[in-house]
Amino acid sequence: MDLFSRRIIKAADMIGNASRITAFTGAGISTESGISDFRSSGGVWDRYRVITFQEFLTSHEARIEYWMMRKELLREMKGARPNSAHQILANIERTGKLTCLITQNIDGLHQDAGSSRVIELHGTNRKAVCLSCERIWQIEDIQSQLDAGEPAPVCECGGFIKSATISFGQAMPKDAMIQAYACATTCDLFLMIGSSLLVEPASLIPREAYRNGAKLIFVNRTETPYDGLATLVFRENAGEVLSKIEKEIILKNG
Ligand SMILES: [Zn+2]
Repeated sequence: MDLFSRRIIKAADMIGNASRITAFTGAGISTESGISDFRSSGGVWDRYRVITFQEFLTSHEARIEYWMMRKELLREMKGARPNSAHQILANIERTGKLTCLITQNIDGLHQDAGSSRVIELHGTNRKAVCLSCERIWQIEDIQSQLDAGEPAPVCECGGFIKSATISFGQAMPKDAMIQAYACATTCDLFLMIGSSLLVEPASLIPREAYRNGAKLIFVNRTETPYDGLATLVFRENAGEVLSKIEKEIILKNG
């Protein structure tokens, strides 16, 4: 048996023996769904400059630029469907073992795959929010306004409307962070998929799980600063790794 297969069996055993799994996902889980990674060249993130939260608040031009980029991103995300990695996490949730799913993604694909409890650390691209009265807008309504030629949508109250995602310089959603840390401190297995774990404070969550005695499995194309803490590190595609692990679990359970 080759090394890869042995590692798959070991991962399947770890999942089988765990009773409280926390999954943590980043952009890498969605690249197989056709969504460009924040760091991948040629992607939508690469063609626009980053608008900080401060700029968004203070400059009309920055808000126009922000929505030009968002418009393109929305188009890209609209056609995206969950892939096997999203689906398998939803399957594990249904067995009752996966109690927390934390994501850095804003694409909503975990929910599309059927995951019911998703902690979105960076917010969601499916909604927009008025920064003054906090009214929540469906993204379709904002998209219609953009398509109709409104370059930077404004709320009925006069406040600026922004995608319900977290920009550089904007505080992380407090509730989501508290929930994520609670998940990290109470799980016995931490399954990280598709994050380079470079963006703090989210990147500190796996370390928290390790400190509290959880075993860690990482599935990511590139190295992360916390690889040394993980029992298993896979560099292969998330879809492939999770499909093989799931097959192994099904085999074992007859
Ligand atoms: Zn408003």
